[in-house]
Amino acid sequence: METVDSIIRCALVTGGSRGIGRAAAVALAKAGHPVMINYSGNKEAAEETAALCKESGGDDLPVFIEKADISDEESAANLVKSAEEKLGHIDILVNNAGITRDGLILNMKTEDLEAVLDTNLKGTFFCCRAASKLMMKRRFGRIINMASIVGLHGNAGQSNYSASKAAVIGLTKSLAKELASRKITSNAIAPGYIDTDMTKEINEKAVEAMMSTIPLKRAGKPEEVGALVAFLASEEAAYITGQVIGVDGGMGA
Ligand code: NAP
Repeated sequence: METVDSIIRCALVTGGSRGIGRAAAVALAKAGHPVMINYSGNKEAAEETAALCKESGGDDLPVFIEKADISDEESAANLVKSAEEKLGHIDILVNNAGITRDGLILNMKTEDLEAVLDTNLKGTFFCCRAASKLMMKRRFGRIINMASIVGLHGNAGQSNYSASKAAVIGLTKSLAKELASRKITSNAIAPGYIDTDMTKEINEKAVEAMMSTIPLKRAGKPEEVGALVAFLASEEAAYITGQVIGVDGGMGA
């Protein structure tokens, strides 16, 4: 008979090539989870993440990289299919891929709204839909969606991005209710200001202003988010679902 300890839980991380997604993939590998790292264009970065996963999880750990644009319905479905084929099953889905197209609403182009919603919301939805079908059959699953503090509190210049992340929170909570009977949990992480390529472009003045709102007075590290991903994916987190957990140095307190 299969026991909990003998089950190997496999993970798909979208946008796992860089930043928070990379840290999540490495933390999952360290915890012994075979992992597929998705990326949209940066193959070299995805390969680097794969090497880091092997370093943390051991040379024998199955680690794959897969190019896919999750904002495209067919491409997202194929990604999940490929993860199932290569890993054997998907037990942990980390919807991390995300983009920004910042600007004040008066100047914001419709394309900037659409691009952000397509990747952040629709891409997350497509992956959740495809993976939850597989998880339901296995009566186990961990869905972990990367939201943001601005999805809870809003941010000037990020109306499109904030709206996409607020929607991700609604999606996460709905799935928690819909999928609980099959032992699938669904949680969102709301990072604050984390030091990645995404935040490198923020100008010095804006960074200074943001720092003054962070009680811990520093940017977060991607690894500090990755650690929470690994915990939410673990057997110990079985009773946590429908939650939005901040990793924000106290910014949202
Ligand atoms: P990042 O450094 O810009 O990395 C973004 C990742 O997403 C990359 O791996 C990129 O792949 C991938 N990606 C982008 N569009 C994609 C698409 N259409 N299909 C598949 N993959 C795609 O971002 P990050 O800062 O680590 O952010 C990760 C997540 O955390 C995002 O959802 C972001 O909104 C959220 N977040 C970040 C912060 C922060 O302060 N950094 C705060 C709150 C929330 P390539 O490498 O191939 O381009």
